Amino acid sequence: MNTPEPTGVDLRIDNGRVFTPDGFADAAVGIRDGRIEFVGAQADAPRARETVDAEGALVVPGLVDLHTHVYLGSARLGINPDKTAARSGVTTWVDAGTSGAGTFEGLLMHVRDRSRVRVVPFLNMSFVGLAPAGMLTREIGELWDPAFADLRAVLRAAEEFPDEIKGIKVRASSNALGDNAAIVLPQAREAADELGVPLMIHIGMAPPTLVEILPYLRAGDVLTHCFHPHAGGRIIGADGRVRPEVKEAVARGVRLDVGHGVASMSHQVAIQALDEGVQPDSLSSDIHAENVGGPIKSMLTVMDMFLALGMPLDDVLDRSTRRPASVLSRADLGRLEPGAAGDVAVLAVEATDRWKQDSTGHRLQLTQHFVHRLTVVGGQVLAPFDDGREEFRSSPWLTKFGATGDDGDDNH
Ligand SMILES: [Zn+2]
Repeated sequence: MNTPEPTGVDLRIDNGRVFTPDGFADAAVGIRDGRIEFVGAQADAPRARETVDAEGALVVPGLVDLHTHVYLGSARLGINPDKTAARSGVTTWVDAGTSGAGTFEGLLMHVRDRSRVRVVPFLNMSFVGLAPAGMLTREIGELWDPAFADLRAVLRAAEEFPDEIKGIKVRASSNALGDNAAIVLPQAREAADELGVPLMIHIGMAPPTLVEILPYLRAGDVLTHCFHPHAGGRIIGADGRVRPEVKEAVARGVRLDVGHGVASMSHQVAIQALDEGVQPDSLSSDIHAENVGGPIKSMLTVMDMFLALGMPLDDVLDRSTRRPASVLSRADLGRLEPGAAGDVAVLAVEATDRWKQDSTGHRLQLTQHFVHRLTVVGGQVLAPFDDGREEFRSSPWLTKFGATGDDGDDNH
């Protein structure tokens, strides 16, 4: 808590239930020059040029989605992050390997530098990134030809664009990698070590098996699609329990990331993991053009799911803000306190009776869900807009997982 500034703030958010690092507080939030200036009692709040009333709503740090695809125009998967941010409160978007060393500059120039939200690039170990994904006539993995895994090209990109690569990404499943894990994963490990950034590994259908993948991950690295249902890569073993190797990885500091996506989420895997005390560190969406129309729509869908699975509200918020920000070593993101970035989401939690479906067709009853009210990035309100571009793009092999463009919920 802070004393009011006599000079006032640019934007003040009044009367909300504020999610601070110390828990919930009925408070006002003031932002000046793009940074949080004040969090404290309404009566002590500084005067402001612009005010917003958050009565009846939660005021939380701008959401941090650790797994998204926003390289629109270069990969068929890409969506416009500002457009979804304006209706969801997600202010930090980690682009999880849509670009590779051969296409990285375009992500900086054409997306990151032109977006109002914060776009954080993780570089794919494939030179072409995810350009092959979403091809309509056949599936082609970006690393089925291991020649596309070129460590030297990654290191050269890091030299050409110093400090711009914030993580290394590999999709370690048969549809992406074929049987090239032994060639690709050591290079990915070396790239992350050379750059001093986290390694994010996607898991799915084997090969490679999860047990083959886990030794490549260290403290601060990320295992994404942690609750997927596919054979050979599931965190649940043949005995129906979380594999000991997964628990060992978590114990050494490997972070589990949800990366819901279309084909990568099983409620039952999550229920078993939560039952054994194995928690996802970050509630990311894996939002892209093939699920933005449903079943994902935004990261709020993933947060709704964890409320329904019994995760306490403060935990859901922490794993959507501070914890994913910590993967990025960004202490100024994901926290509502003086000095932090002026990124805020105003969200209401409202009753609902709708169902949510996972990749296996399992349906989960929701009793409450998040409803977006306002997005603020760097102290500026990001208002919803329509750029006329249709974001959703169907794929023949994804419709079977429920990527129909509509899940019956218009709020997300
Ligand atoms: Zn993804």
